[in-house]
Amino acid sequence: MNTIEAKDKQYIWHPFTQMQEWVESPQTVITSAKGITLYDTEGNTYYDGVSSLWVNIHGHQRPEINQAIIEQLGKTAHTTALGLANIPASILAEMLVEAAPEGLKKVFYSDDGATAVEVALKMAFQYWQHRGKREKTRFIALDNAYHGDTIGSVSVGGVDLFHRIFQPLLFEPYHIPSPSFYHSSMKNEAEFTEYCLNALETLLKEHHKEIAGLIIEPLVQAAAGMLMSPRGYLSGVRRLTKEYDVLLIADEVATGFGRTGRMFACEHEEVSPDLMCVSKGITGGYLPLAATLATDEIYNAFLGTMAEKKTFYHGHSYTANQLGCAAGIASLEIFAKDRVIEGLKTKIACIDEMLQGIKSLPHVGDARQCGMIVGIELILDKDKKIPYDWTQTMGAIVCMKAREHGLFIRPVGDVIVFMPPLCSTEAEIKIMLDITKRAIIEITELGQS
Ligand code: PLP
Repeated sequence: MNTIEAKDKQYIWHPFTQMQEWVESPQTVITSAKGITLYDTEGNTYYDGVSSLWVNIHGHQRPEINQAIIEQLGKTAHTTALGLANIPASILAEMLVEAAPEGLKKVFYSDDGATAVEVALKMAFQYWQHRGKREKTRFIALDNAYHGDTIGSVSVGGVDLFHRIFQPLLFEPYHIPSPSFYHSSMKNEAEFTEYCLNALETLLKEHHKEIAGLIIEPLVQAAAGMLMSPRGYLSGVRRLTKEYDVLLIADEVATGFGRTGRMFACEHEEVSPDLMCVSKGITGGYLPLAATLATDEIYNAFLGTMAEKKTFYHGHSYTANQLGCAAGIASLEIFAKDRVIEGLKTKIACIDEMLQGIKSLPHVGDARQCGMIVGIELILDKDKKIPYDWTQTMGAIVCMKAREHGLFIRPVGDVIVFMPPLCSTEAEIKIMLDITKRAIIEITELGQS
């Protein structure tokens, strides 16, 4: 064990991972990264098949982003946003509004995805208080949702494993079914969509007077295993929330900034939410930054005199951090300069082609794709849809095998997540998915753990 690994084991408490087996197993220590490659202390290299937890979209050590941060460092790293404006934050805010779905006009900065969600929930709640509809205090959340790990965002989550223990601390939203067709028992996708939307409408009919907002991960429920909603579901949710006077909060933390093949997932169904949360890719994976975008209608409800106390009482020490915002500007400039979104078409087609081979494997139940987001679900019995016993940790074992072959991917239970940097070439995508396929075969068919 090298000294850094020893220090890590002695001092660091890693998120989500302190199972005895993991704590005792060797730790890969990353020393540097360039493009889509990670380098470790042992001289090994790995393709970054999850974009360093879905954040690193243009590759590591991207010269334009490095340079933007260095230039900003020469001016200032951070000044408070309480009572002071700053240049990168203002420029980035304008760029975000221009890139966002229609109607989102104001940007509230925070630090990470969960906080962007907290902000949206609090804004939605307070908005109705100012509008005089004080009974609108509840939220609608989706089964299998994941919106982060703070108490508010956990409250609107729907992944039991992450949430159950905190139950006494959480507020209780109304829940609607997860729109994951693969996991439903229905045979027809259109009927399934109708069933999901009917469930929402039934709830809204009865309870809309007490509901402030509905929060949704548009198109893909990410942390629950890249569960994808059928076409028409998101626009149906928008139609119903409008009809029943409920705010729609789009959590684009995972899907934003090109991930789905469009700048934001909402664009696929021409949906304009009332509030939108972004983070992850916002700085190209360089620095922690998040934003909650709101409509003028929401912002204006908070305007008032000091005596009216309508202000949104929320803020953080690092709100609108200059270094993060400078990185964000550089990242959005790369989108324009390199025509990133346009370039994704062939990469997405390449993934689709590669997934056909993976889908046909006997222990792959589903290989789902939405743009540059992939979830490969391992299964014990494909015909009967019988999952592996979760204590077998098949997903984790397959990912460790892929790591032996030079690819870093992560499991969500038995779903293998593949979220390559958007800058990956088709050749690199092919290599990464070939390794993934090989690892699945070696573990599920040949038993070579
Ligand atoms: N919302 C969604 C949809 C996410 O996928 C995540 C993280 O994976 C979050 C919120 C929380 O983001 P963060 O980990 O930056 O707090």
